[in-house]
Amino acid sequence: MTEVIRDVASLRMLQASWRRAGESVGLVPTMGALHAGHMALVNAAREECRHVIATIFVNPTQFGPTEDLNAYPDTFDADLQLLRDNEVDVCFAPMRELMYPDGFATTVKVAGLTEPLCGATRPGHFDGVTQVVAKLLNLGAADRAYFGQKDWQQLAVVRQMVRDLNFPTEIIGVPTVRANDGLALSSRNAYLSAAEREIAPSLNRIIRNAAAQIARGHGAAGVCEAAAHELIKAGFQSVDYLECRDAKTLQQAERPAKGTARVFVAAKLGKARLIDNVSVG
Ligand code: AMP
Repeated sequence: MTEVIRDVASLRMLQASWRRAGESVGLVPTMGALHAGHMALVNAAREECRHVIATIFVNPTQFGPTEDLNAYPDTFDADLQLLRDNEVDVCFAPMRELMYPDGFATTVKVAGLTEPLCGATRPGHFDGVTQVVAKLLNLGAADRAYFGQKDWQQLAVVRQMVRDLNFPTEIIGVPTVRANDGLALSSRNAYLSAAEREIAPSLNRIIRNAAAQIARGHGAAGVCEAAAHELIKAGFQSVDYLECRDAKTLQQAERPAKGTARVFVAAKLGKARLIDNVSVG
């Protein structure tokens, strides 16, 4: 039975009892509107840890002023059912005032990795991510925390923060879960109309083709530029970025060695901004 916890004291008490018993804990941070992608994280946590805490918190500090914070889907009852079906011990769903009480004044900033890609097109986004993940890692006091590779840059930034600040939690990356047509599952797919949902899988198809061409030795800049045009032709309104970068450093990669780089994309389709990334070679 999944217990819903909304305050820190109850969470700490439960964790203390688990720690006394020597039982491991896995943490799965989410913003709710849960789907099979989130459940892949939960299942990975369940396989490796005795207890699983999933968090549901739509973090306001990682949204820009013109972004979709107020429209972000809220499906708490269905989320809780999904967590119950997947044998999650605790759903930690704090109120905003608990996370950011009056007088809250601390940020955590990772340099470098936060600058390109989503960092360039969503200024301040990763400062919000590291702020909330730092809090959740402290609150979760977990042995391991699970993040999706769909948000590859986020995973890299969190790993860097954890390494730099000696958080005791091990960060685990989980492969992207996709629909049969290749579209990465995302809470934001709910914004797509039926017609847009037909167009959406071209995002993955086009970056896979681009990755294959780069793997065959074509220069990444030219391939990525052509792929961005293809996205517009397929029906996307705009492309925030479509770039080939080193998988670890996120530096531009023009002719990467096999398996060292990824093609990253963010593009707008209707009300949704969709992101994806795939390996080159
Ligand atoms: P979100 O609720 O969108 O903030 O996502 C919470 C966590 O689930 C993040 O670590 C995401 O990377 C991960 N996630 C979201 N969608 C997927 C997916 N399709 N496959 C794997 N992980 C995902």
